[in-house]
Amino acid sequence: MNFNLDEKYLTIQARALELAREIEPMAVEADASNVVHQGVLEALKASGLSRLMVAAEYGGTYETIDPLAICVVREAMMATSSHLDSLFALQGIGSYAITVAGSQQQREQWLPKVAATEALGALALTEDNSGSDLKSVSTEVKETADGLVLNGSKAYISNAGAAAYYIVFAKEDSGFSTVLVPADSDGVSTKQTTELIAPHVLGDVYFDNVQLPHSARLGVAGDGLQNALATLGVFRVSVAGAAVGLAQAALDEAVRHTSTRVQFGRPLARLGPVAQMLADSWTEIEMARLITYRAASMACADPSSTLHHSSMAKLAASEMASRVVDRCVQMMGRYGLEHQSKIERLYRQARPMRIYEGSSEVLRLGIAKQLVLEKA
Ligand SMILES: Cc1cc2nc3c(=O)[nH]c(=O)nc-3n(C[C@H](O)[C@H](O)[C@H](O)COP(=O)(O)OP(=O)(O)OC[C@H]3O[C@@H](n4cnc5c(N)ncnc54)[C@H](O)[C@@H]3O)c2cc1C
Repeated sequence: MNFNLDEKYLTIQARALELAREIEPMAVEADASNVVHQGVLEALKASGLSRLMVAAEYGGTYETIDPLAICVVREAMMATSSHLDSLFALQGIGSYAITVAGSQQQREQWLPKVAATEALGALALTEDNSGSDLKSVSTEVKETADGLVLNGSKAYISNAGAAAYYIVFAKEDSGFSTVLVPADSDGVSTKQTTELIAPHVLGDVYFDNVQLPHSARLGVAGDGLQNALATLGVFRVSVAGAAVGLAQAALDEAVRHTSTRVQFGRPLARLGPVAQMLADSWTEIEMARLITYRAASMACADPSSTLHHSSMAKLAASEMASRVVDRCVQMMGRYGLEHQSKIERLYRQARPMRIYEGSSEVLRLGIAKQLVLEKA
């Protein structure tokens, strides 16, 4: 058993770290923005890293999409900029349903553009009255003799207003379907979401009698839940990767501060309770990184039947990141509170991670269900 990343992943990690270093001077501005930062977008495009989100046949890096590579990249990106991390992540989250269920024509039309960062993707599940309870959506697609008609609205959609298309999860008859809606379709409009604790490119998307061809469906009618779950199977664990990167960046800040600031005649890091916070944080990060890499490796082989491992990693790492960054702020005293300082940014950015892509409570329900299924 090898607990180290092999050459393939180290190479990808080095490229992600290089990109993170390149965009670092723009990070404060980009992370404060709720529209796409052009400098960061161009740097992502030039890096070629979005190619990890698409299979080689459509311009991607590897023959199949590799969740561990995506984890390692998100870890490096999130440590520097949540804006960069989100742009990168959405290229996969917002295109995977096309990869697994799209027609040849849909794949050829969109995936090479996603790989080249020429088209931004978006996955629209959430609605005003439907969050964790995905099956309660009211957006509806109806089949007519001429094609499909989509009506409803989505809320809190990453890349809303910037995406080239939306993958929309909607009711259809007694089941659910996913449809691919080009952003410039008649009847599609967007509105920015109220600014969050940590700004994010986020908005509501409205569909008013949007006319689509039959071919806009991803897969067949009724495939919607399966397509959404397939996306989670590959990408949920990558949130854990980002959380590990965020926590590590916070700890690096705290180590720098506590090893140079002297109080009571010693560096803070040598004062008992501070040393304990440093040690606990490092230990928890290492634990989360291990479970994350393991779950991501499992997802490489079989994403759907190992989703509970991805859920455990996402739960463990996002909860850990909140604890660690909170301790780091504490260790840095008043300097940890300065607006737009790195630690303050990380503190705010950690919070949403426990809510999106499966809130901690909802993940626990799924993990417990699987446990009982396996052990009872
Ligand atoms: C930055 C950000 C980006 C996002 N991007 C997207 C996107 O691109 N696409 C998209 O579709 N959505 C997106 N979302 C929405 C996100 O997926 C939802 O916020 C998430 O699904 C939770 O739904 P909710 O916020 O409505 O909370 P609710 O579902 O209303 O939950 C509220 C609270 O109740 C708890 N709860 C809910 N159900 C249960 C239960 N059965 N048992 C126990 N506790 C429960 C939850 O854990 C939570 O603590 C984004 C959100 C954020 C913050």
